[in-house]
Amino acid sequence: MDVPIPPAHAMTTRRLHLAPQTGAAVEVRRGELLKIIDPLGEQVSDLISFASADRTEWLSSGRTIDYANTIYVTTGHVLYSNRSRPMWTIVDDTVGRHDFLLTPCSPETFTILYRTTGHHPSCFENLARHLAPYGIPPNAIPTTLNVFMNVDVLPSGELRILPPRSRAGDHIVLRAEMDLTVGITACSAELSNNCRFKPIDVEIHAAVEKTALDLQPSHAVDAAPASE
Ligand SMILES: [Zn+2]
Repeated sequence: MDVPIPPAHAMTTRRLHLAPQTGAAVEVRRGELLKIIDPLGEQVSDLISFASADRTEWLSSGRTIDYANTIYVTTGHVLYSNRSRPMWTIVDDTVGRHDFLLTPCSPETFTILYRTTGHHPSCFENLARHLAPYGIPPNAIPTTLNVFMNVDVLPSGELRILPPRSRAGDHIVLRAEMDLTVGITACSAELSNNCRFKPIDVEIHAAVEKTALDLQPSHAVDAAPASE
């Protein structure tokens, strides 16, 4: 009797379902693909990462914006650490608008900006809680990559937080360039999510030999010597 053997990728894909206003932490190995999916649309997911080998090395908004020369990262951009080492490469992005300027929403965000009284769930608290078992203290959490967050910059420099452009099923895929400890959320801030809190789905796919980027022929063509 033949028993079908599932393909390797089916056995090694890990999945997380983040309920609204929650978070998680997970280890992602170098070469693995992290796919962040907005299953219902218009939902932000805050992402942060630390080098597993030395968690004082973290994903840096400043370094990444320096080298990308844009505040809007998308397919093909490399995301750098505070030590200017590549942490991620974005290999697919069906939305093309994410924020890397603003910090994760925190208890203070809600008291200062929203004037909320009493406890309000926040990405910062969710990240801090889930990263604590890895020895990462709250003060080590920097600016997050706010996946699907739609922030416009006016000519005056004023920021406008708009509803995410993501629709149901939209996603971004990042390839890990080193072993990483990753914190991720389904964002808790009303303004960032068009006032409706939705889940976020995460998939971690096994390392692949070739990615879409690697398969582009431009490098091979460039490397060919000019000859007559
Ligand atoms: Zn948030």
